[in-house]
This record gives sequence, structure tokens and C-alpha cells, in this order.
Amino acid sequence: MAKEPLRVLVTGAAGQIGYALVPMVARGAMLGPDQPVILHMLDIAPAAEALNGVKMELVDAAFPLLKGVVATTDVVEACTGVNVAVMVGGFPRKEGMERKDVMSKNVSIYKSQASALEKHAAPNCKVLVVANPANTNALILKEFAPSIPQKNITCLTRLDHNRALGQVSERLKVQVADVKNVIIWGNHSSTQYPDVNHASVKTSSGAKPVRELVANDEWLKGEFITTLQQRGAAIIKARKFSSALSAASSACDHIRDWVLGTPEGSWVSMGVYSDGSYHVPAGLIYSFPVTCKNEEWSIVQGLSIDEFSRKKLDATAQELSEEKSLAYSCLQ
Ligand code: NDP
Repeated sequence: MAKEPLRVLVTGAAGQIGYALVPMVARGAMLGPDQPVILHMLDIAPAAEALNGVKMELVDAAFPLLKGVVATTDVVEACTGVNVAVMVGGFPRKEGMERKDVMSKNVSIYKSQASALEKHAAPNCKVLVVANPANTNALILKEFAPSIPQKNITCLTRLDHNRALGQVSERLKVQVADVKNVIIWGNHSSTQYPDVNHASVKTSSGAKPVRELVANDEWLKGEFITTLQQRGAAIIKARKFSSALSAASSACDHIRDWVLGTPEGSWVSMGVYSDGSYHVPAGLIYSFPVTCKNEEWSIVQGLSIDEFSRKKLDATAQELSEEKSLAYSCLQ
């Protein structure tokens, strides 16, 4: 029997990432090739015409899985009945703006969208925040949508995770699908810590640790990390536009693995509500290694953390605590 359609909200849908994301959702890259979807696209009034253009293209593409499109500037209409919410819309950093001003704009956007989701989304709606500062926007959303379980509110660090897989695969000249279990710890910002201490590569003679195969700690602790931190900027320099394709693809990966599960023996990185694991302060949205089963994520426990990693985990937690204080100060 055919499945009932699921409703997927994309905010900021007329923007760069939104434009790359909606056709992926309509093709089944997010929820599977047998799952019909109804797309809810939200944008602000100045983008209404562009949003309507995106809707026209979705009709023209005749996606068999796409059972309906809602394109709106009304946040309540956008959030009504949604099963999955991908929050891409946000106030961009503009030259000369203070950090606090950008935070304040995003706090007010996420506060109002949280209230609409709280009242109108389907029970058990799963939320993924992409717009920056993603971890802290997710925290604000959690605060103002108290009836959505806190385990349902997450942010995107999967792009950083996928970038780390890509860098290891290029360095070792192996297929990216044979590399697994890298970790992105912390904030989706330049303080994030890409960790390969537990990562491995599938070879004809079994799984081998990435650290052993790379055999160059200087590269792993230096250029590997800075390349990932600066990858977004490098893509903007090359393309003159942001890394929308890979951001959209990673958003699909994030939701797909959350809903359909991670393969046995593999984990992924997700920004999730910290329960104090690995001595990360509880109450932050922090990126951890997670496995997913039955539509729930669990933080991978018991990984050893060396001294170098400990400092990196703490530094990115510190930045998130400061962002949290700044965001809460904008609420007063
Ligand atoms: P993009 O679609 O390129 O980016 C959207 C958001 O995703 C930004 O916050 C961006 O952060 C973030 N992001 C996270 N990861 C990445 C990545 N790897 N690459 C690029 N961006 C990433 O922005 P556009 O300006 O094209 O689109 C934004 C849309 O949001 C517009 O359609 C606009 O109308 C809408 N909007 C909605 C608002 C609302 O809901 N009230 C308010 C303002 C805008 P960063 O800024 O750090 O690049």
C-alpha cells in the first residue's frame, strides 16, 4: 500500500540552499524513494515572487513523489501539520553589523517560528536548523517550542562531517564510501573540532584506522582542520556563491539517517541537545557522534578523548556557552 505523504517545511525556501534543497526532497533524497511528500515553503514578503517561481519549477519538474506544494509568507500556514521542518531562513551577517545585532535578529525570527511550530506542527515533528548561528538558533527554537520533545530539535553539522570524509578520501586516494566514523564536535563555526581518532577505512584486509593510514599527525592536527574550517570561504571564493549544493545534500543526509537509521557500526555527526556526555555542559546544542534507530538518535558513548581533543572539545563548548548568553541577553 502507498504511504501517506509527509509534510516537509523548508524556510528561506527562495534562497540559495532552499533552491537546491527542495528538488532533493521532492526526489526522495531526504525521506526515501517510496515516501510521498508535500512541500511547505516559507519565505519573507520581499522574496514572495521568487518563491512563487520556485513553486512553478517544482510543478514543471513533475516529481512523482511530490503530492503538493504550499508556498507562503505566512508562518502559521507554513508550519501547519508539518512532520519535518528544515529551518534555512535566517538573517544574514552584513558588513559592519555587530555580532549582537545579528544574534538579536535571529533570536526574534526563531522565537516566532518556534511558537508557530509549537502550535501547528504535527506531533513529534523533527526539526533541523541550518541557518547560522545554527546551534544557538536551535536552542532558541527549543526554548520557545516547549511541547516539541527536546530530542526532536537538532542543527546541521553533517556538512562538516561529510567534508571531513571527503578530505580523508582525497588524502588517502580511497572511495569516500569506504571512510567512516569521523566526528565533528561542537559548534558549526570555526571552533568546531573535526576528529579522526576513531575513524577507519575499509580495505581488502579489513578496517584500518585513518590515523595509521595517514601517518602524519602534523597534517591531521593542522591543515586537515584548517581546510575544513575554511572550506565554506574557499567555495564562495571559487564560485562567488555559497556552498548551497553540499549544504542541501547534507541536510537530506541528516534527516534521512535520523528517520531511516544509521548503518550498523557507523555513526554520523548531529548537533543535538547535550545531556552532559563527554563533559560537555548540559543544555547546549552541541555536535556529537550519534547513531540513529527507530527515528531516535543516541550519542555514541565511551570513546577515548586524548588531551589535544579535550582542549578542542572544551574550546568549542566555551564558544557555545558565550553564544547562548548573548542570545539570552537578546531576549530581555
Ligand atoms: P543561503 O540559502 O545561502 O543560507 C541560508 C542560511 O544557511 C544562512 O544562515 C547561512 O549561514 C546558513 N548556512 C549554513 N551552512 C551553510 C553552508 N554550508 N553554506 C551556505 N550557507 C550555510 O542564504 P540566502 O540568503 O540565499 O537565503 C536565505 C533565505 O532566507 C532568503 O530566501 C531570505 O528571504 C530568507 N530569510 C528569511 C527570514 C525569515 O524567515 N524571517 C529572514 C531573512 C531571510 P551564513 O549566513 O553564515 O552563510
